[in-house]
Amino acid sequence: MKLAYFNDFRLGVVNGDSIVDVSAEVSDVPHTGPHNLISNLIGRFDEYRGRIEAAVARGTAIPLASVTLRPPLPRPGNIICMAVNYMEDGTRTEPAAINAFNKASTAVIGPEGIMVLPDVAATIFEGEAELALVIGKTASNVSAADAMDYVFGYTCFIDGSARGVPAFYQMKSRETFAPIGPWIVTADEIPNPQNLQVKLWNNGELKQNFNTDDMAHKIARCVEWVSSVHTLLPGDILATGTNHRGLHAFQHGDRIELEVEQVGKLAITVQDDLARTWGRDTRLERHGMKPETSPQLTGKYAKA
Ligand code: MN
Repeated sequence: MKLAYFNDFRLGVVNGDSIVDVSAEVSDVPHTGPHNLISNLIGRFDEYRGRIEAAVARGTAIPLASVTLRPPLPRPGNIICMAVNYMEDGTRTEPAAINAFNKASTAVIGPEGIMVLPDVAATIFEGEAELALVIGKTASNVSAADAMDYVFGYTCFIDGSARGVPAFYQMKSRETFAPIGPWIVTADEIPNPQNLQVKLWNNGELKQNFNTDDMAHKIARCVEWVSSVHTLLPGDILATGTNHRGLHAFQHGDRIELEVEQVGKLAITVQDDLARTWGRDTRLERHGMKPETSPQLTGKYAKA
């Protein structure tokens, strides 16, 4: 099942090119707004799945093209991002030590959202194509063997970065730097999440293209490890990392499309009121060159 928010945060189920409004079926889920309607529904999904499926069967199909999709998790309790979690096509000989970081939940934007580059002296702004897990049950000290039972579903995630600012916190938690969507696909639809192709295009040009089979610490281990650090709650996001080789500068006017196989396609645009420019080459294309990321060419903070 593909769960989405649309228009004025109506809850819908996506089926092909259409969506059915199921808001009435979930109105008795305790909530104060869309953010905890979805997380509380996820925590009770076994009770609601049958009711929602029946509502979809008798409901009116609305063309997806006629609605505005919203972030499926408008304000998750936690956004945890795995750091350096790919083998990078064999260029790493062994997995990096398992590591992650928090991203502010206020950074979330949804489908067709605008990622706004802030007026800070970053060396480059990048966005990392990632498969994100949506946690389904309260998870504390979960074993890897049990971990997949705690995964409610999956969504696309772009991990925005303002590289070269003084601290990691300032790099990753910028406003609008957590695009998610276009919906949540429940885990039953994705039997093997460790074999999904992930592609990211910038203005139609394929930049990132990798498979989740290259993940260094697999999904079950990530859930085990993160849940050993702190409790994860229903509706929390755990982003599983990226293959850095296709990273490149996001800049004003760019249209970014991220497709995760079997999950969906998330598109956003980039806005930079300073209209700074960088080269268009990827880290892979710059292999062996200095600096590792394409230098800023023009605009405020350019070094040249
Ligand atoms: Mn990342």
